[in-house]
Amino acid sequence: MPETPQEVLKMIQDQDIKIIDLKFIDMPGIWQHCSFYYDQIDESAFEDGVAFDGSSIRGWKAINESDMSMVPDPKTAWIDPFMKEKTLSMICSIKEPRTGEWYSRDPRTIAQKALDFLKSTGIGDITFFGPEAEFFIFEDVRFDQTESKGFYYVDSVEGRWNSGREEAGGNLGYKPRYKEGYFPVSPTDTMQDMRTEMLLTMAQCGVPIEKHHHEVASGGQNELGVRFAPIVEAGDFLMVYKYVVKNVAKKYGKTATFMPKPIFNDNGSGMHTHQSIWKNGKPLFFGDGYAGLSKMALHYIGGLLRHAPALLALTNPTTNSYKRLVPGFEAPVNLAYSQGNRSASIRIPLSGDNPKAKRMEFRCPDATCNPYIAFAAMLCAGLDGIKNEIDPGEPLDVDIYDLSPEELSKIPSTPGSLEAALEHLEQDHTFLTSTGVFTEDFIDNWIAYKLDNEINPMRLRPHPYEFSLYYDV
Ligand code: GLU
Ligand code: MG
Ligand code: MG
Repeated sequence: MPETPQEVLKMIQDQDIKIIDLKFIDMPGIWQHCSFYYDQIDESAFEDGVAFDGSSIRGWKAINESDMSMVPDPKTAWIDPFMKEKTLSMICSIKEPRTGEWYSRDPRTIAQKALDFLKSTGIGDITFFGPEAEFFIFEDVRFDQTESKGFYYVDSVEGRWNSGREEAGGNLGYKPRYKEGYFPVSPTDTMQDMRTEMLLTMAQCGVPIEKHHHEVASGGQNELGVRFAPIVEAGDFLMVYKYVVKNVAKKYGKTATFMPKPIFNDNGSGMHTHQSIWKNGKPLFFGDGYAGLSKMALHYIGGLLRHAPALLALTNPTTNSYKRLVPGFEAPVNLAYSQGNRSASIRIPLSGDNPKAKRMEFRCPDATCNPYIAFAAMLCAGLDGIKNEIDPGEPLDVDIYDLSPEELSKIPSTPGSLEAALEHLEQDHTFLTSTGVFTEDFIDNWIAYKLDNEINPMRLRPHPYEFSLYYDV
């Protein structure tokens, strides 16, 4: 893989590449792109960027100040496997052409600023993120309330109904049973070949791959494992991950969704995120405290737990996110930490005596987040914990789902809706803005965008289930 602009330009020449595709992420988290004839990209493009109209990008500039520049990162160059013509792809950060400064609402810039902030504190010089993005593959998605006896349903690849599964009848042979998708072999697992193709394609695109498997939900839920990476690269890899998953699914005539809760009453899709901080090549989360954690790691956890209600407005930023965060589906509901306990929102994976493997796993996030923003925000919360020595309290080494309502009431829980999380963010964002990583403008714009474009439009529309509840009233 090339490292410098000169190496990219040489690669273009050596491989006779005619098309250069520049990609960047918008605020809600979707890749945008524009393709250039190869002679349009020279060394200056890597410094000053290439101009585009920022007013048409969701959540960005007003029409009267719309010029922006996308600046490709030479270290992200890869051949896009989904294009007929050999196409070199690069991931960009965004600059303001008038001032030459990095754009404060650009998510990739925010992740870079989070790393700069970490270094400036002297706490560490590198931070690793390992997201585990789960997703569903569907053949066809339909909504109906007549056949499914009051529930709207999704028809998955295995052809099983969301609800009224038994009523649907039919041949149940080779079909994953309710919550038994994890992980019988084929022919029950019908997606082996598709996942293998996804994983190998990711490797071709430069993502360090590890594994793939079916997930717990009864049909079509999958996860591919990629290696942890430094903050900005981890965001880049997650974007390639989603791109490859969706495009390979399309090749097979299917669609993929990262929606956290596409199916009522079955497991949802999370994006558990493993995190650690290192300095001078040494891991800093290993120590002699609880679960082999250092004091620093426990304070980092304290910061994440304290700010979680606000943090979730960025790590779980859709109305659908909060349909996943309910008891009974391996999704975290209570804000607590524990070793090996999957019902806690922070888990400390068993890592033996290996200091390099010592990390914590925040289980709340889902893949509808913008990864650069989510990682940066989690780092800010953790660093706030370290700076202020926030005590994470006692670990919770019991199955939280089994606690009595009285015991449970003592444990703070995740917000019940996106609206509630945004209200927390409005009250609690100094841990983000005091670092210089996030601006007040970013926070205000994020809250306004989510209210205007997601919460209010959802509120205005009759929901399919309302027909079931109220049609005959
Ligand atoms: N799907 C579960 C979630 O929503 C996680 C299952 C797992 O532990 O991998 O978080
Ligand atoms: Mg999983
Ligand atoms: Mg996990």
